[in-house]
Amino acid sequence: MTVVPHWISGTELPPAGRTAPVTDPATGAETARVGLADRAVADAAVKAATSAFAEWSETSLARRTTVLFRFRELLNERSDELAAIITAEHGKVLDDARGEVARGREVVEFACGMPHLLKGGFTENASTAVDVHSLRQPLGPVAIISPFNFPAMVPMWFFPIAIAAGNTVVLKPSEKVPSAALWLARLWQEAGLPDGVFNVVNGDKEAVDALLEHPDVAAVSFVGSTPVAAYVHETASRHGKRVQALGGAKNHMLVLPDADLDLAADQAVNAGFGSAGQRCMAISVVVAVGDVADPLVERIAERARGLRTGDGRRGCDMGPLVSAAARDRVASSIAAGAAAGARVVVDGREGSYDADGEGFFVGPTLLDGVEPGMSVYADEIFGPVLSVVRVASYEEGIALINANPYGNGTAIFTADGGAARRFCREVQVGMVGVNVPVPVPMAYYSFGGWKSSLFGDVHAHGTEGVHFFTRAKVVTTRWSEPSRRGLELGFPVNT
Ligand code: NAD
Repeated sequence: MTVVPHWISGTELPPAGRTAPVTDPATGAETARVGLADRAVADAAVKAATSAFAEWSETSLARRTTVLFRFRELLNERSDELAAIITAEHGKVLDDARGEVARGREVVEFACGMPHLLKGGFTENASTAVDVHSLRQPLGPVAIISPFNFPAMVPMWFFPIAIAAGNTVVLKPSEKVPSAALWLARLWQEAGLPDGVFNVVNGDKEAVDALLEHPDVAAVSFVGSTPVAAYVHETASRHGKRVQALGGAKNHMLVLPDADLDLAADQAVNAGFGSAGQRCMAISVVVAVGDVADPLVERIAERARGLRTGDGRRGCDMGPLVSAAARDRVASSIAAGAAAGARVVVDGREGSYDADGEGFFVGPTLLDGVEPGMSVYADEIFGPVLSVVRVASYEEGIALINANPYGNGTAIFTADGGAARRFCREVQVGMVGVNVPVPVPMAYYSFGGWKSSLFGDVHAHGTEGVHFFTRAKVVTTRWSEPSRRGLELGFPVNT
């Protein structure tokens, strides 16, 4: 049985001690074990990153970006290899895995522009014979802690920017999907990144805690569920680190009566069941305004019933859940919804799957008549379950969305530009789509939610990402001139 190692200073470190199973969710088979790092392994990775920082942060931007460009080319050439690894451990269908790699690669491309992004400002003669300029410098070793649902893209929201800006990285991927991170580490080496700049520590809470508390880790970028995001933000902040911690979601799609219903139904299905609903930007609640509800539910149901669920390598529309525990949790959420009075229009607990073995499947599920008091509405289900909440008006719909504790993504479907504009202004959510159900910002904008979907101030990638991984300095300069000599103990004033 393969044991997925750690990657420290450009070499594999075989795990000693605890391991956890890695499974193929489409078959249920255990395909490998992954090492779970203890504090000593986490320390070794931080030590490697700390010693590499001295040289990497002094390496010219020209040389750093040459490595980034090479990494981008290799990623482009070999993206199918990475997509296959993602499908084998996560379960999402291959096309979806390819899409994940492409969206991650866009951040690499953005980071290739680091010389431009790091340009500072310069003010000549701010005071007589005094010039001022600003610059941004890297922080040091940074930790990235990522969730299972995007084994490549979420780490790539952060590390291309961190590395291009001159930092060094310790990545702690989800122990459920560890192999993508190792593949990326080897690719960095091939691209010419010096050993120690990018390290991978596999593990669970023990490894995370070691990184959050380590005195030499300068910053932490975390993505995962809300309770762990809150814990990471609090713990790392207490240990003096810069932290951005992105949490869970419950994304609503508001459908107004004038919307194109076929488009809305297509997009609800794509955004609700893509990746089996295991996306932080998945739509999980359709808010149907007025008369739109009946025809919309009918259209979504028809499409959901036509989806083929099975092994992601077999051209299916939808793959499995990541684990048996996730499958059981989703099935019991559906049961709880039904028990609370929701109508199960399409039941994903029934049906057959195109796969061998005992995969972790739940088919597309549609619940109508869901209400805010129900657990199926309140909880982040993170599975292929679309809930329909019926409301009488736009006002009732937006009040529902704004009352939700999460604020990651949302969308409005309408043909009315004025209503869409009003929604964009009034909704308390970080990423908003107008007739776009999964409004993931491009790499040159920043990704992040509001409220319980993000702890910290700074979003991922884009210019906010560059700011997160650098700190600002302002230099005020006066070159000696005979006319400026003489004692003057008063507070300096501009002249
Ligand atoms: P998770 O919170 O269980 O795990 C995330 C990471 O934290 C993993 O690396 C895991 O090993 C580690 N971890 C887990 N429990 C821990 C603990 N008690 N202490 C310290 N570390 C711990 O999340 P997941 O199940 O891997 O991912 C799914 C969640 O991530 C969903 O809630 C989803 O919405 C969220 N997510 C959010 C975004 C976003 O951008 N906001 C993006 C992707 C996923």
